[in-house]
Amino acid sequence: MEIIVGKTSGFCQGVAFTIKKATEYLNEANKNNEKLYCLGEIVHNERIIEKFKNDGLIFVNDLSEIPKGSKVIFRAHGERKEIYELAKERNIEVLDLTCGKVRAVKNKVVNANDDSIIIVFGKKDHPETVGTFSFCKDGFIIESEEDFKIVKNNISKHDKNKIFVVEQTTFNEELFNKFSNKLKDMFSNYEIIIEKTICNATHERQEETAKIAKDVDCMIIIGGKKSSNTKELYNVAKESCDNSFLIQDANDLNDIDLDFSKCDKVGIMAGASTPEDVVNEVIERL
Ligand code: SF4
Repeated sequence: MEIIVGKTSGFCQGVAFTIKKATEYLNEANKNNEKLYCLGEIVHNERIIEKFKNDGLIFVNDLSEIPKGSKVIFRAHGERKEIYELAKERNIEVLDLTCGKVRAVKNKVVNANDDSIIIVFGKKDHPETVGTFSFCKDGFIIESEEDFKIVKNNISKHDKNKIFVVEQTTFNEELFNKFSNKLKDMFSNYEIIIEKTICNATHERQEETAKIAKDVDCMIIIGGKKSSNTKELYNVAKESCDNSFLIQDANDLNDIDLDFSKCDKVGIMAGASTPEDVVNEVIERL
């Protein structure tokens, strides 16, 4: 069996930076006998979270769980505007590890707020999209075709004639093109500015996934269950290869109903928060 592993597979720059900095902060806190908190999962990968937990990082889902005067890590996805304000109010020191690319999207939104209606293409419940949207004065999130109707029915409530569009950095490339065209058709009476904020790392990974998937008998996508970019990779792979599977680690290979001995070529791609050792274990098991 030939195994083709994507060159863009694994940690993106943002995740690598988050893990490195969080490790440094945690080492420092442990040295000073201080507690260190993290709001939400640091990255969408169970193994990494478990490791941080074992090393003493305390994960919370709500800022109210953190004592006043403590330190908290904000992860690569970024946080909502209200959360930054609340942390300040409660005298909680924020160690902000929001990825620079996510931060740039937020800044674009803030700059466009005064004269534009903001539209964010992204998943409504994804922390990054929720965070970006919290900085919009007037705006909408478009996740699916149905959301265009909501925009159509409500856009006139905003007294502006300009639409400014950004995307969740892990948004699907093809959907981006589809939605952008639809928006231009539907709202031709508005001035529309579309900023492409899909991260290069995401774009390159999706492109390589599509390329490999066309050429293999089976495509394995590795990543956490909650990882949005990993799910998108699976969707991209599935379009070209029916035998595409999304797994968390090597153990999940056992649940795949496929006779691997009949596969000449197997492709592998890992999401942005998947550690290298998880990928190597899958290769080994195959
Ligand atoms: S995928 Fe891109 S935007 Fe998201 S954390 Fe990684 S580098 Fe940053």
